[in-house]
Amino acid sequence: MHNSGIQGRWVKALSCSVALAATLFGLRVLAADAPQFDPALAWDHLAVQCSFGARNPGSAGHQKCLEYMEGVLKKTGCTIQRQDFLGEDPESQKSYFLTNLIAKFWPNRSRRLLLCAHWDTRPRADQDPDSTNRKQPIIGANDGASGVAVLLEIARCLSLVDPGIGVDLVFFDGEDMGRETHIDEYCLGSQWYAQHLEYPLPEAAILLDMVGDADLRIPYEQNSHYYAPQLVDEVFKIAAKLGETAFDPRPGRPVYDDHIHLLEIGIPAVDLIDFEYRYWHTTADLPAKCNGSSLNSVGRVALAWIYQRGQ
Ligand SMILES: [Zn+2]
Repeated sequence: MHNSGIQGRWVKALSCSVALAATLFGLRVLAADAPQFDPALAWDHLAVQCSFGARNPGSAGHQKCLEYMEGVLKKTGCTIQRQDFLGEDPESQKSYFLTNLIAKFWPNRSRRLLLCAHWDTRPRADQDPDSTNRKQPIIGANDGASGVAVLLEIARCLSLVDPGIGVDLVFFDGEDMGRETHIDEYCLGSQWYAQHLEYPLPEAAILLDMVGDADLRIPYEQNSHYYAPQLVDEVFKIAAKLGETAFDPRPGRPVYDDHIHLLEIGIPAVDLIDFEYRYWHTTADLPAKCNGSSLNSVGRVALAWIYQRGQ
């Protein structure tokens, strides 16, 4: 994702306050039978991804991570699809084979939810305080591994209890190769996915990005709040009900992230992101800066959302 994240029509999000009319109705009782999210298993998924090293396109870690995610998902009995496409690193001007990994649970159901995260990591630590590190790829414990870790644990939970609705877990590639200030060079996987998505579209989407920060605070991401206010309200109400105080229902920064391409094709989408992370795009984005209880907070809320929607 990108911090100066908005341009053109997305700029609107900066100046608008959004009426929450009609969003206060209809919050259903949380499903009692949602399976328990296991933070230890989620943490393992984060640690394993980081053990592969940097996972930028073209790296050995990138290939290993793809195979790892596929192996974990296969155990859940979902339908797995690799969506391959080509993407260019504008800095090196090299093209890479990129892959969105799509895991479909109950693929024949027309009512569907989408949960997504990017799995690639940034090829250069261009925000590193030490200028000699800035050409190194990052490990991306938070920026990459955290969202994937939560989704992989959600996959296991889905395999235990049917939520009564179709669910697609999508792992986007090519999110983080863009140059600073060139937002169109980011989010290649979600762009490709949105362009090739078939009907019926998912009725709503949650994007997880940078959700592992040991000091987690998730405010309203402003593009989500402007374009999908009811969904944002729904998710934050669930967080409040669960006592997940890391969710702070106040406006944060607008972020240009994978959810933008979903919003563009009419899917309500919320980006759950803690962008106040001092190790962003540095070589210090390591597991030691993250923790399992942050993954747990986000995982519990996302899981409760799925089971509430499916009731
Ligand atoms: Zn990033």
